[in-house]
Order: sequence, then C-alpha cells, then structure tokens
Amino acid sequence: MSEEKQLAAGDHIVARCTKCKEITNHTIVAMVEDAPAKVECNTCNGVHKYRKPAVKKAPAKSKTSAAKVAKINKIETEWEDLVQNIDPATATQYSMKISPKEGELINHPTFGLGRVTSVTKPNKMEIYFRDGIKLLRCAIG
Ligand SMILES: [Zn+2]
Repeated sequence: MSEEKQLAAGDHIVARCTKCKEITNHTIVAMVEDAPAKVECNTCNGVHKYRKPAVKKAPAKSKTSAAKVAKINKIETEWEDLVQNIDPATATQYSMKISPKEGELINHPTFGLGRVTSVTKPNKMEIYFRDGIKLLRCAIG
C-alpha cells in the first residue's frame, strides 16, 4: 500500500469550503499539474479554488486536553440529540419558580437551551445544556 494515487478531475477529495466554512467532500473540477486547482463542494455545490483542509491547530498539550475535547464533543452530540427534535419556541423560560417535568425543554438566559434530565424534590433539577449537565433550583410540588 505504498503507491500514491494520482488525482484526476472527477476524483473526490476533502477540502476546505469557504461557503460551508468547514472541511467537506469535494469533486475535483480541474487539475494543474499534479495538484487539484478547482474543486466543487459536494455540500453546497460551490466551485472554488482547492484549499487543503487546514490542519486543526491542536495546541500541543497533554492527552488530557484531547480527552477533554472529546468529552465536550460527546456532550454536545448528546445535547443535540436531546434538543434537536423539540421546537425551541416551546421551551420554558427558566426561573427558580418553574416546576418542570422530566424531558421538558428549558431556555436559560446564560446556558441557553437545555433539557431536564431529572428532577429532585423539593427544589432541584438537572438540566442538560450544551456545556453539560447543571444542577439548578426550581420549585417542585
Ligand atoms: Zn461548500
């Protein structure tokens, strides 16, 4: 597995898209010598100059921070799963006086949208926010 595949127009390549502002799959439209010159984004169909996917500047730190980032990503993914199917317009505005039910969507002025994962009498609830789970005051029963 040492041969390097020669790229050609029509091939798929991962590149940075300025419209999508992320790394997306592209199709090579034109080659200049051995390098892709123009590519078409498979996400937004925009044709633009090929840009190498920028290597994310991972701050050269310990594994701990990478694990932390992974954890944050996991929390965000779980959070998205929890809130994505709910209309944000139905969210309850947070205050200490609300008496939420499990599963209720809460809109917190600081933490944003979150979903109640558990309530504990008499006055505690756990809400899954984008930043993670937070324990907040509320009024139950
Ligand atoms: Zn795009």
